[in-house]
Amino acid sequence: MIDLRSDTVTKPAAAMREAARDADVGDDVYGEDPTVNELEARAADLAGFEDALYVPTGTMGNQVAVRTHTERGQEVLSERESHVVKYELGGMAQLSGLQLRTLDGGERGIPTPEQVREGYVEEDAHRPGTGLLTLENTHNSKGGIAVAPEKIDAAAEAAHDHGVPVHLDGARVCNAAVALDVAPSRITENVDSVMFCLSKGLGAPVGSMLAGSEEFIARARRNRKLFGGGMRQAGVIAAPGMEALENVDRLAEDHENARVLAERLATVEALDVQDPETNIVLVNTEGTGLTAEEFLAACEDAGVAGVQFGIHVVRFCTHWDVDREAVETAAERVAQAVGE
Ligand SMILES: *Cc1c(COP(=O)(O)O)cnc(C)c1O
Repeated sequence: MIDLRSDTVTKPAAAMREAARDADVGDDVYGEDPTVNELEARAADLAGFEDALYVPTGTMGNQVAVRTHTERGQEVLSERESHVVKYELGGMAQLSGLQLRTLDGGERGIPTPEQVREGYVEEDAHRPGTGLLTLENTHNSKGGIAVAPEKIDAAAEAAHDHGVPVHLDGARVCNAAVALDVAPSRITENVDSVMFCLSKGLGAPVGSMLAGSEEFIARARRNRKLFGGGMRQAGVIAAPGMEALENVDRLAEDHENARVLAERLATVEALDVQDPETNIVLVNTEGTGLTAEEFLAACEDAGVAGVQFGIHVVRFCTHWDVDREAVETAAERVAQAVGE
């Protein structure tokens, strides 16, 4: 099976397993794990913030950030197709007592400053007040769109004009940085916090980072404990995470493989393939007469796995464990699966 479901499916490389074995550890809840401390310092540096916090998952990183920026009963402005809205079990409501106001970020998944200004709610006797704006880069549901830093700046400025902080769900912000040929810290320059995953294209077995100001991270550390994310000898998993930080430039290979995959799939007449900007390829199956579910079943029979993103939309994701040859084979198998 050529597994293109997600860039989370990679198995840790030998160097990561060795790093885990040899990691210097301590009790991280007491702040005594030297490996975690070093990972947090390096991640803060990469993201251009004063401090960072190691969290087990991207979801926890986002939810801790949301909780730390807001007060119960406030509204959060989020792009309507974003991960925090669609795929985190309504965590903002469940864990932090927040109400969502969603914005339509269009094809590129980024709200305009006007939309942010219109969505903003001033607190008064009737209205809850806006406590946070969240943005996403790369935008997963829109097909791994690499949002230009200027667009992030503009939306963030509109929020800041009202004193509203901004959190960036940058699960794949390093993919965006590589695709746009800028430093990750340029993309995060005007937001107040960022979460990014070590466990996706960067190849770590587990872990994500939340970065922000020293004061913000100190409060986020308490909320991580509240959400059950205070870990002990976490250096064992942080050590492969440190290796992962060295893999940013390698993401270009995944992007190139996604481009090759998309080009090959586009030669199948019945498929409508979105041009990839990073490591995600969205395919519309409507022309085949198959739903996404039926199409994926046929692909699986042919030895390729993807995930459903809509009634007629499928996502294929390239990653470390699929090379050029594998994506070429995958494209051939998909073509056969739809009878071409
Ligand atoms: C994967 C992902 C997350 C969550 O990460 P997990 O580690 O799976 O919890 C958050 N946001 C986006 C955009 C993602 O793609």
